[in-house]
Amino acid sequence: MYTGLEELQQVFKQLRLSEVSSELPLLMRQAEQQSWTYHEFLTHLLTFEVNRREEKNKEKRLKWAKFPYQKSLEDYDINEQKSITERQMKQLKAMHWLEQQYNLILLGPPGVGKTHIAIGIGLEAIEQGYQVMFLPMGELMTILKTSEYTRKSQITLNRIKQSDLIIIDDLMYIAMDQREANQFFHLINHLYERSSIILTSNKSPDQWGELLGDEGIATAILDRLLHRVEVIQMNDESYRMKNRESVFK
Ligand code: ADP
Ligand code: MG
Repeated sequence: MYTGLEELQQVFKQLRLSEVSSELPLLMRQAEQQSWTYHEFLTHLLTFEVNRREEKNKEKRLKWAKFPYQKSLEDYDINEQKSITERQMKQLKAMHWLEQQYNLILLGPPGVGKTHIAIGIGLEAIEQGYQVMFLPMGELMTILKTSEYTRKSQITLNRIKQSDLIIIDDLMYIAMDQREANQFFHLINHLYERSSIILTSNKSPDQWGELLGDEGIATAILDRLLHRVEVIQMNDESYRMKNRESVFK
C-alpha cells in the first residue's frame, strides 16, 4: 500500500486532525532525519495536534475575554501596597475559589490596582483553561438593555452566561432604574453558583443598595453576590498618584 503525502494529509483532515495535516511534511522529514521510532513518531504527531489545538483555544478565549489591556499578576508589585499578602496572591492564582464558584470583591479608592488585579486573575484563569469575560459596568448595562432586540447583545449575553469567570469592573458608578436593576438581578441569579464573579468598586456593599434603587431587588442581588465571597479591601494610596510623573521638579 502506498499513499502519497497529499492523500495522507487529506486523510488526516477527514479525521479532523487538521493541525497535523498541515504539519505532516515537516514532521515526516524530522522523523527521517532523527530516526524516530514508530512510538516517537506517533507521540510527536498526536502531541503536536493537542498542543496546537490548546494554543488556538487559548487565543480564542483571550479574544473573547475583551480585556481593555493585558497586565499580569506578575506585573503587580505586591510591595507597593499593604492590602494583599503574598499568600493571598498565591491563593488567588491557584484558582480553587473559581473551581468552587466563589465570588471576589475588590474594594477601594481609584488607582489602587483593582482593575489590574482583576485582569491579572482573568489572564491566569484563561491560562488554566477557563472561559473569562471582562465587562465595564456601563457596557454590561447596555448589553442587558439591548439584548432583547439586538442580536449582537444577545450573543454577548449568552457568552457571559457561559463564562466561568465574569469580571464586572466599576460596579455601581451609575444608579440603576428599576428595570435595569431587574435585568441585572436576572443575570446575577443565572450566574449564581454556576460561575464566579469578580466585582471591583469604589463603593462599599452597604452603599450598593442605594444605587440599585428598589430595596427588594437590591437585597436579592446582594444575597447572591455575597453568599460565597472573598472581599479584598484595598485602602492604599493610589499607585497612580504615588508613581505619577510630574512636570514640576
Ligand atoms: P483601580 O482599578 O483601582 O482604579 P487600576 O487597576 O486602574 O486601579 O490601577 C491604576 C494603574 O496603576 C494601572 O496602570 C495599574 O497597572 C497600576 N498599578 C496599581 N497598583 C499597582 C501595583 N501594586 N503594582 C504595579 N502597578 C500597579
Ligand atoms: Mg478600575
